[in-house]
Amino acid sequence: MTNNTEQRQDTRDIQAADAAHHLHPFTNTGALNAKGARVITHADGVYLWDSEGNKILDGMAGLWCVNMGYGRQELVDAAQQQMQTLPYYNTFFQTTHMPAAELAKELASVTPNDLNHIFFAGSGSEAVDTILRLVRQYWVIKGKPYRNIVISRNNAYHGSTLAGTSLGGMGGMHKQGAPLVPGIEHIRQPYWYGEGADMSEEDFGKACAKALEDKILEVGPDNVAAFIGEPIQGAGGVIVPPSNYWAEIQKICNKYDILLAADEVICGFGRTGSWFGSQTLGIKPDIISMAKGMSSGYLPISAVAVGGRIANALIEHDDDFNHGFTYSGHPAAAAVALENIRLMKQENIIDYVANDIGPYFQQQLQEKLADHPLVGRIDGVGLVAGMALVKDKETRELYPEDIDIGTICRDHCFSNGLIMRATGSRMVLSPPLVITRDQVDELCDKARQCLDLTLESARKLGY
Ligand SMILES: *Cc1c(COP(=O)(O)O)cnc(C)c1O
Repeated sequence: MTNNTEQRQDTRDIQAADAAHHLHPFTNTGALNAKGARVITHADGVYLWDSEGNKILDGMAGLWCVNMGYGRQELVDAAQQQMQTLPYYNTFFQTTHMPAAELAKELASVTPNDLNHIFFAGSGSEAVDTILRLVRQYWVIKGKPYRNIVISRNNAYHGSTLAGTSLGGMGGMHKQGAPLVPGIEHIRQPYWYGEGADMSEEDFGKACAKALEDKILEVGPDNVAAFIGEPIQGAGGVIVPPSNYWAEIQKICNKYDILLAADEVICGFGRTGSWFGSQTLGIKPDIISMAKGMSSGYLPISAVAVGGRIANALIEHDDDFNHGFTYSGHPAAAAVALENIRLMKQENIIDYVANDIGPYFQQQLQEKLADHPLVGRIDGVGLVAGMALVKDKETRELYPEDIDIGTICRDHCFSNGLIMRATGSRMVLSPPLVITRDQVDELCDKARQCLDLTLESARKLGY
C-alpha cells in the first residue's frame, strides 16, 4: 500500500469508529455520520493538520482557547512533571497542594480590582454554575433569599450545563432539555448592526442598558441577585457592544444594588489586549468566570474570581459553601495554567495583542475584507472579530433562512485551509495570540478567497 492509501484507510477506520459510537457536541449526528468527521491529527503554532495531510490555519485557536498556540513544550513539561509528582488530589477536605495554591495567588494578581479569591472548576460551564450558586448564596447570607433572580441577555452564551443553558440566551438550546433553571430572565442584546435599526450607536447602547432597568423594575428590584454578561459576546457572533453600554449597565447595577458578573471565558487571558475583557471594556465586576485561554486549552480547567463583597460574606458566614467538583483545582491542570501565565508574561503577550498584532489584525480585516460585497460590517477588539454576512450591504438585508450562508462560508474555509467559524450568518475569528503578521496576512487572503467562493455558491443557488 502506498502511504496515501494507508492514510485514507486510517481516516476511514477512524471515521467509522466515530460514526458508530461517538456522539458529538452541538452536532446533527445523522448528517455527520453520513459525511464522516474530519480527522485532526496534529498541530503546531497556529496550524493544524488533518489525516489527509492538509495544513489548516486555525483562525479560532481551537474553540477560542489555544491562546499560546499549539506545540508549546513548556506546557507539556509542566503537566508531565506535575503528573509524576502528584497527579491528583482533591481540595475538599481541608487539604490543598502547591499548584492550586500558587495558581490562586497568581490569578488574584492578574485579575482586576478586588477579585482576589478563586474557586476552581473544570470547565467554563461549571464556572458559570458556580457564579449562579455564589450570587444566590450571597443574598441568602445577607438575609435576603428572595433576591434570587439573575438577569442575562438574548444570544448570550454561558455554557451547556443546565444552568449555563438557562443563563445563556440561545433559543435552540432553550428548546432542548426544558424545563430550564427557574429564576432567570433575559433582556435584549446590544447588537447595534443587527438590531439597532436607525438609532445612533450611542442611543442604542443606552436603550439596551435601559432594558436592564426595565426588567429590574418589572420583576421587582428586591428580587434580583445579579446581572451576567460576556464583556464581548463570543459564541453569539462576537458582538462588541456600543462603547457607552457597559458604563450604563454598571450604573444601573449600582443603583439597584445588584451584583455584576462578567463571563470572561473567552475575553479572559489576553484575547482583547488586557488580561481580562472587563479591563478593556471598563467594567468593574463583582465576580468573573474564566476558562478556555486559562490553560491555552492544554488541559481542562476553569475558575471563578470572587471580589471582596461576595468573598467576605462567604468567609464571615460560619458555614460550608456546599459546592465543588472532584477536579476543582486539579494539580496537573493547575500546573499547566500556572506555566501558561508564566509564558504569557515572559512573552509580553498582552502588550503584543494590545499594541501590535491586535491593531494589525483589525486593520487588515477592514482593509482586505470590509469592502467585500458579502460583508456588512466587521467588529472586533484585539484578536477577536465578527463579520456580518449580508445579501445587501446598503440595506443590511440578510440572506433568507433557506440558504445557510454562514455554513457555506465555513465549509469553503475548511476546504481551503482556514478555520473560520460560522454562528448564524456571522463569521467569527479568534486566532491564537501568538499569530504573526505574515500569518494574519495569510488568514485575510484565505478569508477573502473563501468569501468569493461563498458569493459564487450563493449565486449558483439562485440568490
Ligand atoms: C465556552 C464558554 C462557556 C462554556 O465553557 P465550557 O468549557 O465549554 O463549559 C461559558 N461562557 C462563555 C462566555 C464561553 O465562551
